[in-house]
Amino acid sequence: MTPPRALVTGGCSGIGLGIVSMLAHDGYEVGVLDVNTESNHDAISWHSCVDVSDSAQVNAAISEFAEGGLDVLVNNAGIVRDNVSWKMTDEEWQQVIDVNLTGVFNCCRAAIPFMREANKGSIVNIASINGLRGKFGQSNYSSAKAGVIGLTKTLAKETAKFNVTVNAIAPGMIETKILDGMSDGQRVAALSEILLGRIGTVEDVAGAVAFLCSERARFITGEVIKVDGGQYI
Ligand code: NAD
Repeated sequence: MTPPRALVTGGCSGIGLGIVSMLAHDGYEVGVLDVNTESNHDAISWHSCVDVSDSAQVNAAISEFAEGGLDVLVNNAGIVRDNVSWKMTDEEWQQVIDVNLTGVFNCCRAAIPFMREANKGSIVNIASINGLRGKFGQSNYSSAKAGVIGLTKTLAKETAKFNVTVNAIAPGMIETKILDGMSDGQRVAALSEILLGRIGTVEDVAGAVAFLCSERARFITGEVIKVDGGQYI
C-alpha cells in the first residue's frame, strides 16, 4: 500500500518541523514548502523552496507534489512583525497579512482541486489564540490569524461535500525561534497566564495536528482547537 502524503508549509523549523516529524512517524510521506532552503531532516521526503505569499510559486509546487497524491495540507508558515498599531509601517502590516493569511489562501486554493478529485483530504491551518483574543503590538498578526479562522470555516463549508475536512489549531505560546525577540518580562507575563504552568512544545501542537488528520477526527470540520495549556481562558 502506498503511504498517505502530507504537505507542510514552513516545515523546516519550529512547529512545522515538529509536525513533519510526527506525520512521518505516523507513516506519511511528507513534503515541505518553505523559504528556508535547509531541509536535511530525515523526516522530509520532498522540499520546495517557496514563498507561500507568491501564488505562482505555490501553484507550481503544489501541483508537482500532488501528482503523487495529496491527503493532508498543513498551513503552518508564519512570521511576526510586531509594533503598536500607531507605529506600524505599511510593510510590517502587509508582510504579515501576505504570509500569514494570503499564504494560507494560496495553498488551500492550489490543494483543494486535488482533494476534490480524490474525494478525500484534511487541511489543518495553524492560527493562534491571538487571532481569537487580540494581542498588544500584534494588530497585523492577530488580524491575519482571525482571518485564517474565518477562512477555515468557509473552506469547511465549501469542501465538505468532497469529503474534505478543514480545521484550525490555535496555539498559545510555544517554544520556537519565533519567540526570540521576546523580553524576559513578556515571557514571565505569558507564563503567568498558562494554567498548566509551562510553555508549550512543538510536539504539543503536532499531536493535535496529527489527530485532526487521522481517521479518528473524520467527523470534525470547521473547528478551532486551542493548544495553549489554558492560556486563553
Ligand atoms: P518559526 O519561525 O520557528 O518557523 C516558521 C517557518 O515558516 C520557518 O521554517 C520559516 O522559514 C517558514 N516561513 C516563513 N515565511 C515563509 C514564507 N513566506 N513562505 C514559506 N515559508 C515561510 O515559527 P513557529 O513558532 O514554528 O511558527 C509556526 C506557526 O505557528 C506560525 O504560523 C505561527 O504564527 C504559529 N504560532 C506560533 C506560536 C508560538 O508561540 N511559537 C504561537 C501561535 C501560533
